[in-house]
Amino acid sequence: MILSKEHELMRKNFRNFAETEFTKEIQDELDETGEFNWEIWNKMAKYGFAGTKIPVEYGGQGGDTLSYVLMNEEFARVCPVLAIYANTPNSLGGGPLLACGTEEQLQKYLTPAAQGKKHIVFALTEPGAGSDPGSMTTKAVQDGEYFVLNGRKCFISGAPFADYAIVYARTDLQSKGPKGISMFIVDMKLPGVSCGKPEHKMGINGYPTSDIILEDVRVHQSDLLGPLHKGYAVAMKTLDGGRIGVAAQSLGCAQGALEESIAYAKERKQFGKPISYNQGISFMLADMATEIEAARTLLYTTAQAKDAGDPNASMLCSMAKYYCSEMANRVCAKAVQIHGGYGYIKEYKVERFYRDARIMTLYEGTSQVQQIVISRSLLK
Ligand SMILES: Cc1cc2nc3c(=O)[nH]c(=O)nc-3n(C[C@H](O)[C@H](O)[C@H](O)COP(=O)(O)OP(=O)(O)OC[C@H]3O[C@@H](n4cnc5c(N)ncnc54)[C@H](O)[C@@H]3O)c2cc1C
Repeated sequence: MILSKEHELMRKNFRNFAETEFTKEIQDELDETGEFNWEIWNKMAKYGFAGTKIPVEYGGQGGDTLSYVLMNEEFARVCPVLAIYANTPNSLGGGPLLACGTEEQLQKYLTPAAQGKKHIVFALTEPGAGSDPGSMTTKAVQDGEYFVLNGRKCFISGAPFADYAIVYARTDLQSKGPKGISMFIVDMKLPGVSCGKPEHKMGINGYPTSDIILEDVRVHQSDLLGPLHKGYAVAMKTLDGGRIGVAAQSLGCAQGALEESIAYAKERKQFGKPISYNQGISFMLADMATEIEAARTLLYTTAQAKDAGDPNASMLCSMAKYYCSEMANRVCAKAVQIHGGYGYIKEYKVERFYRDARIMTLYEGTSQVQQIVISRSLLK
């Protein structure tokens, strides 16, 4: 797809920022120690990346979905973890607020998130409710002006540093499945809220993930988000947008791995010539580039379809997430292969791309869940 001049300029700016600021030192520190350098976040916030897709009246840049895709893609091309930091307020953090927050909630919670001053995370998954979040057991029982929340959320990205979490809980205790679930904005400092230990993960190190435990947490009714008992539909709608973000991270990660592989194949010599002279290697590069280009076209079209209100947008979001994330895993595996033994060593960037790509077919709905969404839409 040919980008408009405006989008091309955005791509250039995102790329310049990532290449200049996401230094090897910062990336190594993230991966090895899990410690995030908040200085880089302050810079990201200063340039407005925390609010790329959030309307200007709520402190964002008012960009369209394609500009948000370009940001995620270009950031992940250099460092997938840093792309996740910029992505969260624009997608799962800000999404539910944008979908149904009152003016007061938007000013209080969305604006500081879009400005990068506060962090909001998305807490849907539970130990017994992953692909089937409708089976959640976290409860919220009304007591006067308050709701009392009890339950446990798991795998919550960013929970250890979050100021607020959008928590899904069952408010209609008689109902089963997706019905009777509501959304709450939970201040992480409220009595009864705690986090589990950050998980030790295979990849995306430096973006901490933990449980959120809720024990008799009293949330004021003004922090009920959206209509009572109707939170599930908003979660699904928000995930559409989030899936585009994961697709873009996958695309960037694959592009980064391809570029590393081209450079390595041209430089590394065996049997007296660069390994790229062998069709066994060069054809792998051709396949990787072709798959990336196909993924890019699907993703950009999906971004435009979403903004245009296309009735197929939800299915396209799932297709883009499914295809781009599976593609990134295929591409990153080939990238390691092209690097030979060196591809297994941390010093070489493809090792990290390979590990980081692995989460992309899992979170925000596994590939199987995307297949369910796509096939349901085809067969309805
Ligand atoms: C690093 C990380 C970060 C995350 N961040 C967040 C977050 O910020 N917020 C949040 O709410 N959640 C988050 N998650 C949770 C994530 O979305 C879930 O892990 C994911 O949805 C899968 O759920 P599960 O792990 O319980 O797997 P399960 O649902 O138990 O699935 C296990 C396997 O069975 C398959 N499966 C399940 N049902 C079906 C079916 N009907 N048909 C075919 N196959 C099926 C799945 O595809 C998978 O392969 C995160 C997870 C990780 C690992």
